[in-house]
Amino acid sequence: MFAMRRESDETAWVQDLQLISGLTVKISEPLARYTSMKIGGPADCFIEVETENALAQLLSILSRQDTAFDILGNGSNVLISDLGVQGAVVHLSGDFKLADWREEANNLWVEVGAAYAVTQLVRQAARRGYSGLEFAEGIPGTMGGALVMNAGAYGSEFEKVVDRVDGMTRDGSPIQFTRKTMTFTYRDSHLPSGTVVTRVRITLHRDESSRVSSKVRELVTKRKSSQPSGHPNSGSMFRNPPGDYAGRLIEAAGLNGKQIGQAQISAKHGNFIVNLGGAKAEDVRQLMERARAEVEAQFGIELVPEVRMFGKWPSVKAE
Ligand SMILES: Cc1cc2nc3c(=O)[nH]c(=O)nc-3n(C[C@H](O)[C@H](O)[C@H](O)COP(=O)(O)OP(=O)(O)OC[C@H]3O[C@@H](n4cnc5c(N)ncnc54)[C@H](O)[C@@H]3O)c2cc1C
Repeated sequence: MFAMRRESDETAWVQDLQLISGLTVKISEPLARYTSMKIGGPADCFIEVETENALAQLLSILSRQDTAFDILGNGSNVLISDLGVQGAVVHLSGDFKLADWREEANNLWVEVGAAYAVTQLVRQAARRGYSGLEFAEGIPGTMGGALVMNAGAYGSEFEKVVDRVDGMTRDGSPIQFTRKTMTFTYRDSHLPSGTVVTRVRITLHRDESSRVSSKVRELVTKRKSSQPSGHPNSGSMFRNPPGDYAGRLIEAAGLNGKQIGQAQISAKHGNFIVNLGGAKAEDVRQLMERARAEVEAQFGIELVPEVRMFGKWPSVKAE
């Protein structure tokens, strides 16, 4: 693994990466700015990737070097350790932000790069009079992150609109999944470990543009009334347990407003932890542990984190 290699070995493969067109390599890059919570220490090696060709070469080198990597989308569902992330953090950009809209007979679909912003796609679909993605308005992730998380809201989720997924295996070989070969569950698409999603094909159906836009506006209003705004956060910290809501349970446990350092369980929504300014990942993790322990003690229900933990932690195992 990266952290155990001699410095000369590290330098050699990092230099190899710097020769590949379509890659930008940054050493000890602070990750807080790449997350919606604005928290996180540095990545040993942060690599921005612009093209599929560059991604294939990168993955092949990382695989040969046995270097661990994490993919970071828009960082809206991750908690990154204050101690940072060992190995490589891969961030898609460039060609992965393209979308190709197709309409043939009664079939409407969009093939979209993994780095494309979900909300941008929702609004473009609405303008074109394509319905099916309205539920995703306000999900501040990329298409890759949304697919991996099977992101959802207001009774729908990506599982219902995904038709095909293109990606690469951890060693850079192409791989493709169709809706039939994928298994989606609540907030998980169960892709094989190490898969990098490169493109997602979404099927939509025709409707009046004004009706689709009006549905999108309705959901914006609904979201604003129930979720905290003004402070950085990562959305829901825990999955909802079957038949209940994590936010309801945390509030019933008397924890709304509870603060550790500059991290606070939102007074408005118990399943959100907000960064009041300068919060540490460890503060957030301790608040999550407090919520988990109180809800289990008071209601006998074990909350499972929805956010993905990246990096080295003082007292928990890294993902
Ligand atoms: C204010 C707010 C509101 C939110 N509302 C919702 C909501 O209503 N519904 C909901 O489901 N979620 C919600 N979220 C959570 C989050 O936005 C979604 O889970 C989103 O889909 C994550 O996308 P991302 O690009 O930010 O992924 P990241 O947070 O960067 O990553 C999430 C996971 O996906 C993996 N990943 C990302 N891109 C790729 C890729 N190309 N290939 C392989 N793996 C990849 C990462 O490695 C990580 O494991 C909300 C978050 C916030 C901050």
